[in-house]
Amino acid sequence: MADDAIRCDACPVLCYIKPGRAGSCDRYGNHEGQLVRLDPHVMLERAQSRGDSLVPFLDKSRDWDGTLVNDAETFVTAIGAGTTYPDYKPAPFIISSQVQGVDMVTVVTEGIFSYCGVKLKIDTDRHLGAECSTVRAQGEPVGHVTTGEYGSQMLSLGGVRHLTGGSRHEGTVTCDTLLSLCNGKAVELEIENGAKVVVQADKAPIVDGIQEERMRVGCGSATIGMFARQWFGKVDEVVVVDDHITGVLSEHQAGKLLGIPETGIKMKGRRSTPGRYFKVAEPGTSWGGTDISDPLSILAPFDPEVAKPGLRLLMVSTTGEHYAYYELDEALRPLEKDLPSALRESVARIKENCEPALCTVLFMGGAGGSLRAGVTENPVKLTHSVRDSLTRVTCGGAPVYVWPGGGITIMVDVSRMPENAFGYVPTPALVAPIEFTMKLADYATLGGHMNHVRPMNSIHRDEDGRKKVMPRPDNPWPLASGRVGKGE
Ligand code: SF4
Repeated sequence: MADDAIRCDACPVLCYIKPGRAGSCDRYGNHEGQLVRLDPHVMLERAQSRGDSLVPFLDKSRDWDGTLVNDAETFVTAIGAGTTYPDYKPAPFIISSQVQGVDMVTVVTEGIFSYCGVKLKIDTDRHLGAECSTVRAQGEPVGHVTTGEYGSQMLSLGGVRHLTGGSRHEGTVTCDTLLSLCNGKAVELEIENGAKVVVQADKAPIVDGIQEERMRVGCGSATIGMFARQWFGKVDEVVVVDDHITGVLSEHQAGKLLGIPETGIKMKGRRSTPGRYFKVAEPGTSWGGTDISDPLSILAPFDPEVAKPGLRLLMVSTTGEHYAYYELDEALRPLEKDLPSALRESVARIKENCEPALCTVLFMGGAGGSLRAGVTENPVKLTHSVRDSLTRVTCGGAPVYVWPGGGITIMVDVSRMPENAFGYVPTPALVAPIEFTMKLADYATLGGHMNHVRPMNSIHRDEDGRKKVMPRPDNPWPLASGRVGKGE
């Protein structure tokens, strides 16, 4: 072109890039007339984990002598590998290696995911918003509240509808939000008629400006079951306040088995089974994920036929964060008193049993589309091969969960991936690394691009732009034998 701009064809945007400049995704640039990938291509190298010395790939003072690379100890990830849009072209790297005498191949590409999102688990009892409520980032809808799990609130963010089905700004903000979360950055989200929450992978959530510390020990009923024996003889009644299932010691099966006598306590809410009450209050961000600040507000007057003056009552939340101790006066009204030292330990024990509250970010995407054509001329054969466990799928070398059923729909914990593994293109869509590893013979059978297979050593000759990263020790080694191929 007249201005020496070159065209990038790595995604549908097809940027024209002037010399010394980058394309609109900042992933590709024009370096002296050549289209180059700007981020380093990441290799996993596990030699150091065995105590061996490492030879840096980028050590220019040393020529590659052809003997440094142990195929089985190096894994070529798709991070920084580049994309091949449109996908009828073979994937950027199709690398062969020998693992314990078996010829293997890893097909490596950065996938452009329009069908993708994040499942976000936020460890907190606090009510963040009603199910199906819209979740916003920068004022734009980017997802919704989905079914709560045990001690955690769950958000579903992204997806093709927010990326492509709304305004351009909605798509851009959704993509930006997903990218930040997947790359381990903090994001502020606002839930319709609910809380503002700051979330970040592997970090504690911040709910309405307060950092969450603990995940609940269990629901109110489970807490009664766990600690009933520790309360026995030290207090007459215990109520564990929980937005979902509030537990009452004297009525609960655990209390019955210990022989704890009736106390005449009367609970508000809906009795489910003995000692287990639903809906004692409205959801909120206070005691046990309810909206109450006064625990007595969930009690009706004690039964005068059963209750006795002096009866000792402990009320505690499912994290031990909130607690109060009462004794009944002559009129059977609970009067708050200091928590006796004998009960302090049990409240501390509830806290001790609560795990640290974290946010977990799972990237979820569909690799069952045209991306497969970069692997094989007959895409459905790759799907079948994954389904038959002949092909292992990894993201940046991290293990993924492949959903049963059609397509190749994967989920991966982003905190198990190397940092900054994700990118974006302004279509908008997320760019995520994906690798397919299988036996070379199986690759040939599924119609792989055999003419493009090249040995591991070939890419080590080309040291520029490569970066080695130690694999996480808790991740299975992606080339480990016995994990790919039937009968191994
Ligand atoms: S957005 Fe990035 S990948 Fe797409 S054409 Fe432009 S530079 Fe290339």
